[in-house]
This record gives sequence, C-alpha cells and structure tokens, in this order.
Amino acid sequence: MLKRLLSKLKRKKKEYPNRFLKHYHENKKKLLKERKSLYNQKKEAGICVRCNKKALKDIIFCSYHKNMQKGYNKKARTDIQK
Ligand SMILES: [Zn+2]
Repeated sequence: MLKRLLSKLKRKKKEYPNRFLKHYHENKKKLLKERKSLYNQKKEAGICVRCNKKALKDIIFCSYHKNMQKGYNKKARTDIQK
C-alpha cells in the first residue's frame, strides 16, 4: 500500500510554486474526503453545514443560511437570463 503510493508520487513528480500548493495537490483526495465527511457528519447531526448552528428540519442550513442560499440561487438565475 505504502510502496504503491510512493511509486505513484515518484511517477507524478511535479514542481509546485510553494510548499503549501505542493501539500494541497499531494493531499487533495484526502483533504476533499475529509471535507466531505465533515459535511455528512453535520448533516446527520442536524447542524448547519455553513456554520455550527442547529439546522432546520429536513434541510442542511440554519434559517440564516437558508435565506443566504435563496439569495445565491436567485442571483444565479438572474445571471443566466442576462
Ligand atoms: Zn448557518
């Protein structure tokens, strides 16, 4: 498992402008997975995925972020119509 991972890294050796980007690209999959699992954890716990307030019933946002989301959707639709 570890050997395979190392050979994979060797093959895909790339240069990055800085070590932060390098870290991001080399751990992208893991980071995204972690982020996704946090989302699911919050969802299951009934906590707003944008903040840590209690979410409304059957949705993943608190009342504040529910309204924020409404605003985003409205803006997205308006931009398409233009
Ligand atoms: Zn919220």
